[in-house]
Amino acid sequence: MTSNTEDLDSIAVNNFREYLQIPSVHPDIDYGPCVEFLQRLANEIKLPVQVIEPVASKPVVIISWLGQSPNLPSVLLNSHMDVVPVMPEEWKHPPFGAEVHDGKIYARGAQDMKCIGIQYLEAIRRLKENNVQLQRTIHCSFVPDEEIGGAVGMKQFVKSKTFKELNIGMALDEGLPSVDDRFLVYYGERCMWHVTFHCPGQPGHGSLLLKDTAAEKLHNLMSKIMAHRAEQVRLLDSDPDLTIGDVMTVNVTILNGGQQANVLPSELTMTMDCRIPVTSDINEWSKTLDTWCAESGEGIYMVQSRFENAKPTDISEENPYWMRFKESVDDMGLQIETRIFPGGTDSRFLREMGIPALGFSPIINHPVLLHDTDEYLAESMFLRGIEIYMKLISSLGDIANDEN
Ligand SMILES: [Zn+2]
Repeated sequence: MTSNTEDLDSIAVNNFREYLQIPSVHPDIDYGPCVEFLQRLANEIKLPVQVIEPVASKPVVIISWLGQSPNLPSVLLNSHMDVVPVMPEEWKHPPFGAEVHDGKIYARGAQDMKCIGIQYLEAIRRLKENNVQLQRTIHCSFVPDEEIGGAVGMKQFVKSKTFKELNIGMALDEGLPSVDDRFLVYYGERCMWHVTFHCPGQPGHGSLLLKDTAAEKLHNLMSKIMAHRAEQVRLLDSDPDLTIGDVMTVNVTILNGGQQANVLPSELTMTMDCRIPVTSDINEWSKTLDTWCAESGEGIYMVQSRFENAKPTDISEENPYWMRFKESVDDMGLQIETRIFPGGTDSRFLREMGIPALGFSPIINHPVLLHDTDEYLAESMFLRGIEIYMKLISSLGDIANDEN
């Protein structure tokens, strides 16, 4: 059976809209409807599908297109099924309506990232219809809970027996849309580091001038953080080649302590979100934090949590997957820019496993509306994305044995 392009386009758009209409929105997501929808789609395209639950009620859907040399490392096309909450009253159109206005599809998840999940599958549908057969197996994974850190999603999936059996050689995952005509490709992420400073202090009456108060220590620390922040702002402003992913960001996000206006607290706490660029030395930063505490007053201690600093994916000639990716986008005449991702995505769990991963969302000339109101994707961009993936998938899936 061969369908014409018009039919294929309307099938793809309908599937995209149907997926968007499933409110897989935090908190307490029921992934059941997403799983059923994806299973139905896989059956329709005649692709084997498996559903595993590394954590109960947190399913991972894996849809596979078998290659002719299934022993070669496979290509993973990852997307997440969950979306972030909405404030419906602020939206022009219902956030789970997936209505089309002026050629734009409005819905939560239109950019982040239900578009990509469907584009992968529709690209494979078309390649199959064109009787393309690839060397390598392509796996599309649909994971839960990326938007709340992936701790019970991708992080568990990569540890599963099923994941190991997929024998993944490289992966594609989400990136970010661009506001101009350059496509953005992300090859690494900064290291996320959260620190809570505990500043103990002399308790007592608020009417006195006691020594060694918690607020003085907090003030000293805050000054150091803000000076460091200002330095990074200057650095970013001074060099047009730098993006936010290339500098360190520090932000105070939580302040706590005190119970009554006339009572000095015995402790105040302050939480800071830091993102460390891949070029920075993690140990140096750790020493800086120790020094800040020691200089800011007696008894300050930190509670810290941070991600393992996953090495960025190699984007040199040494990496055949990268070379293939680059060749394909060049062939298509696409302008790309390689960057470090400013936040965190599931790619980091893959990179920690030593799997090369590229963050790529084929969206250009769009406002960046991830997590924002009136999130939309133009229908034409969605369809162009399918063509881009057709080329990328067929090229990455056809790397011969001797290359990797
Ligand atoms: Zn996302």
